[in-house]
Amino acid sequence: MDCLLNLKGFHALSQQEHEGHLEITVESRFKPQACPHCGFSQLYSHDKTEQVFFDAPMQGKPVILKIQRMRYKCRSCGKTFREPLDDIDDKRLMTTRLKEYIQKRSMSDTFAVVARETGLDEKTIRHVFDDYVDTQSKVMPFETPRVLGIDESKLVGSYRCILTNIEQYSIFDMLPSRKKADVVRHLKSLKNPKNVQIVTMDMWRPYKDAVNQVLPHAIVVVDKFHIVRISLECLEKARKTIRSKLDRKDRIKLKNERFVLSKRRHSLTDEEFEKLQQWSAWFPDLGLSYDAKEAFYCLFDQDLDSKTAEQALMDWQRGLSPQIAHYFEALTTALSNWMPEILNGFDYPVTNTYTESINRYEKDVQRMGRGYSFDVVRAKMLYNAEANKPTTSTIRKKKRKPVKEAPAFYLMTDSLFDSQSTKQKYKIEIIGEKRYYGAHIPTFCNLLDKGEFD
Ligand SMILES: [Zn+2]
Repeated sequence: MDCLLNLKGFHALSQQEHEGHLEITVESRFKPQACPHCGFSQLYSHDKTEQVFFDAPMQGKPVILKIQRMRYKCRSCGKTFREPLDDIDDKRLMTTRLKEYIQKRSMSDTFAVVARETGLDEKTIRHVFDDYVDTQSKVMPFETPRVLGIDESKLVGSYRCILTNIEQYSIFDMLPSRKKADVVRHLKSLKNPKNVQIVTMDMWRPYKDAVNQVLPHAIVVVDKFHIVRISLECLEKARKTIRSKLDRKDRIKLKNERFVLSKRRHSLTDEEFEKLQQWSAWFPDLGLSYDAKEAFYCLFDQDLDSKTAEQALMDWQRGLSPQIAHYFEALTTALSNWMPEILNGFDYPVTNTYTESINRYEKDVQRMGRGYSFDVVRAKMLYNAEANKPTTSTIRKKKRKPVKEAPAFYLMTDSLFDSQSTKQKYKIEIIGEKRYYGAHIPTFCNLLDKGEFD
């Protein structure tokens, strides 16, 4: 009996098989030695109540443990208390091993399946899972990024705000929506808000408003990637409109034009270059639109300072031929709404690597999210043990012990060692304290590649 149960805190007294579950009647192996309120050791039995706890499934069936749980009364302080039970989570009315079982299973199966396996309802599964996420966030508290990336991804049916640590290539957090209120709430909860110096984002007004409100000291940068992409979209709009107005005879002259137009001039093959010249001669607006796109990209290729960039962007706008200007309206609007943040990008050239790498896996992440709630996908991405490894680093703590010389590499990085005398007072000891920055994106992508989340 006991070997089936295998819980060190309990004896199994009897076992009953029911249609859908196993029921094991148990008693505690240990009796309390002292009152938890005052420590007095003379206790007497007060009363007994029957309690039921869920346990991890056995033989493919849910298990419940039945116990006659004693209540004791202290002879000294007169207070009563319930018999303490090993291996039991009193809050969730289940064994701790069932709790662990649920937490592990919820990462790889839906709450509905785990509920069926354990005989619990989905709500309980969710609560246990939430406890887990809560614990994880305390076990690995992520350091507040210096350069924060704010972006979005379509996950589990909606757009979610994704926060990244740009310098550490890690996912810092994921929010249920990209609404200002969600972003504000998150930014307000940051451990070290002053640590955020730069925030890079796409041109989504609520992000900017949230950052300005909560982190007024942070410099907002529009990601170069997002702004140049608009010029490509404008060219695409021109291509479609021009093409739709052609008759059949002229339309035949175009072939693969979308592919060629999307390429940068320096990566065109000789053949493609000739085609482009031919098209420009036949359909001048198409050629002009391509040139406008290229000129815009070139602006961002150069190492301009913000002042020169501002002039160059204005020149670019002025140089737009009137007959194609309307195709580029989305871009000119973006320039007028976001000019300071776009210019910041020239002084602080940071770009969100997340956008390029994770979005490439959009389909895999979608598949990973099938049948799960957003919270599970978030936990799977954020707290993946493998992806949290590479960004873990050791920090060094000082200790008051005189040594001859502190290691040179340390002297350069810590202001504590400014003077020669201080150098000699401290000894550096590597104590292995870990820092977490969130799920390392390259590792995470690697896992997706290997199908770890399928
Ligand atoms: Zn007592």
